[in-house]
Amino acid sequence: MKTPVTIFLDKSLANPVGIFDPQAIDQLRMELRLDPEHVRVLRNGLFKKFEADDVALARFPERDRIVCHSLELFRRCDSEIDGASKLLLKTATGMLIESVILRIATGRSTLCVSSQVGCAAACDFCATGKMGIAQNLTAAEILDQVLHTGQLLAAEGRRLHNIVFMGMGEPFHNAENLHETLATLIDPKMFNRSPGSLLVSTVGIPEAMLRCAERFPKVNLALSLHSVNPEVRCELIPLTRKHSLDDLRRTLVELNRMQSIPVMIEYLMLAGRNDSSNDANELINWLSGLDVHVNLIPYNAIDDAPHLTGSEDPTIRTFASQLKQAGFKATVRYSLGSDIAAACGQLVRKENRQKAMTSGLTLPQG
Ligand code: SAH
Repeated sequence: MKTPVTIFLDKSLANPVGIFDPQAIDQLRMELRLDPEHVRVLRNGLFKKFEADDVALARFPERDRIVCHSLELFRRCDSEIDGASKLLLKTATGMLIESVILRIATGRSTLCVSSQVGCAAACDFCATGKMGIAQNLTAAEILDQVLHTGQLLAAEGRRLHNIVFMGMGEPFHNAENLHETLATLIDPKMFNRSPGSLLVSTVGIPEAMLRCAERFPKVNLALSLHSVNPEVRCELIPLTRKHSLDDLRRTLVELNRMQSIPVMIEYLMLAGRNDSSNDANELINWLSGLDVHVNLIPYNAIDDAPHLTGSEDPTIRTFASQLKQAGFKATVRYSLGSDIAAACGQLVRKENRQKAMTSGLTLPQG
């Protein structure tokens, strides 16, 4: 008679570990009794050199135990008119998010990352705000946008220079994961990026802006101001009802005291709403005494806001020169990828609405 043999299989031991999870990677290293050098080489390969997964994993003794990505590349849209690409990436919950890669004529490349699926700020002019859902992305999901992009650019022989949090979502509604992401991007053992190459754009949540500047004083902050008229600003950014313009100005004064870099002021140019010479004068008064750089944004029309029209180019130029004459640094944002914006944006919205409905999330009408 054969003696039964009992084999104890601890399934958790065989589970693959996400590359962005430092504790799990440490545990795996101890379990496999690996030299820390193996982990260092793997992280350097992926996060600093942006090597392809296979290349980086080939040097790791137990490659099957590592998962390099937390997002799946669903579709890539390349602009036919300029150097923009949009990556549609799928989360583990099946939602789509966008990352935009801007290959600028100077040879530099910027990545615009998403921090949430959808956004609760519900800005009148913003396609993401009209999506009606807001789900936080994990730090791993934000960081994987950087890894996917870095690898894509490296394969083209390009480098990634700047990372801006200007994609889907309000980064400060996801502050904990944002902080973890920034810390990992700056960490010399991880992505080793300079804090000055990172920029966080917000609708303006005073306490969160201050907390971020306290922990990461060299990371750039951008405030989406769009108007210094309280009614107009509330119409454009309903969420800001909670934070008065006085509060925001006090926050900018405090940020200037904490940081040695100017705060970027984003100002969307909308015909007849905020683009008159009087609007420029009010903005100048409001900004006086602050260390800021004003970035005027031409409006990208969206289907859901037929009542809004972008300012004409000459109006934008006049507005910019008024600011410059008053001594402010003012630039006009150029936009890339206008041919892929609608195609991909609409796809994301349709897919996410379907997904939200099948998973029982409530969506606003419209
Ligand atoms: N929630 C953050 C970051 C995401 S939006 C924020 O509000 O700052 C990044 C920038 O794009 C913001 O300045 C936003 O106002 C601007 N934006 C949104 N929709 C736009 C559109 N349709 N055309 C031009 N700029 C837009």
